[in-house]
Amino acid sequence: DIQLAKRVQRVKPSPTLAVTARAAEMRAAGHDIIGLGAGEPDFDTPEHIRAAAIEAIHNGETRYTAVDGTPALKQAIRNKLKRDNDLDYEGNQILVSNGAKQSLYNLMAAVLDEGDEVVIPAPFWVSYPDMALLADGVPEIIEAGQDQRFRITPEQLDAAITDRTRIVILNSPSNPTGSAYSRAELEALGEVLRRHPQVLIASDDIYEHILWAGEPFCNIVMACPDLMDRTVVVNGVSKAYAMTGWRIGYAAGPARVIGAMKKIQSQSTSGASSVSQAAAVAALDGDQGVVGPMVEAFKERHDYVVGRLNGMRGVECITCEGTFYCYPNVKGAIDALDGVSNDTELAEHLIEQANVALVPGTAFGLAGYVRISYATSMENLQKAMDRLEGVFGRK
Ligand code: PLP
Repeated sequence: DIQLAKRVQRVKPSPTLAVTARAAEMRAAGHDIIGLGAGEPDFDTPEHIRAAAIEAIHNGETRYTAVDGTPALKQAIRNKLKRDNDLDYEGNQILVSNGAKQSLYNLMAAVLDEGDEVVIPAPFWVSYPDMALLADGVPEIIEAGQDQRFRITPEQLDAAITDRTRIVILNSPSNPTGSAYSRAELEALGEVLRRHPQVLIASDDIYEHILWAGEPFCNIVMACPDLMDRTVVVNGVSKAYAMTGWRIGYAAGPARVIGAMKKIQSQSTSGASSVSQAAAVAALDGDQGVVGPMVEAFKERHDYVVGRLNGMRGVECITCEGTFYCYPNVKGAIDALDGVSNDTELAEHLIEQANVALVPGTAFGLAGYVRISYATSMENLQKAMDRLEGVFGRK
């Protein structure tokens, strides 16, 4: 047999795969499965962004770009960070990548040595722990359940940080919970981080614009400007502008770290697609009015889905501040259903009995929940909620 690297064995296959595979199998067998598992907006990329890409092709912008991004896109990112976040970065503090996902991977590869720890609040985006493992790091998980609105406390953060901690990841608004930290909460976390100067903070702001909390978006650097020299802000165009397939994300942070990330990217993938970068310039510099209607649609669906879920027996769902996910507690339903003893079995049961596919909470590091994505039409959501209610019953 061909021998594979230990690195590969360290990474576990995602527990979501079983459900996804089961859904595909059942669809192929002719069942009408409603998918509530999508991690991307159901909208099309706005017209002016698509037009900019077509124009770039016609203008011959089809060659390799600089590894760290075209001058135009880097400038658009700096303008965006100033406009939306009041943060000033120099050109050598910005790196454009193939999605925020590559930005995060570059960061882990650039910073971690074997055994270095990455503090990850759970429930987490599924890729964080496995990225840390791929980069020889050790994920340190902090659990934050519904009772604390899925937000870690300063005490939990302090207890999780050791001498080996190199990175703390913050993701707000969060995939999979839709929960967002307030400025005051970030200030309190910042006080802990100030006491641990060896720690770099990764602020994953990818859902920044999909937010309807009472207060405006805030990240750890906006809340604690003195932490700017050890924070890497990660963002991208995938979610806000419905551009998941274009693969453009970026990182902004200390020049030394960004330089190291660039070196890794230069020897692995080079610059991102030239055409996609032109589209991203149009997204960031162009009419921001395209974002609002999508966010309004997500908010309307959020209100509907959360309302319906809370009417179901054994289900409790808190309202979220943003994104297109919610993370209902289904422990009561698991207890009530015969033959179902955990969230993975519940997800399987729901595919079979309700023909609704959703992702079990175990995939996100916090069991007893499921993640529901409402990035699908209201019609689909109504049908899906009726079907789920048929299985759970009404309160
Ligand atoms: N971060 C979070 C929390 C996400 O949910 C995602 C996508 O699902 C990403 C980062 C990556 O986004 P992209 O690589 O499309 O920019």
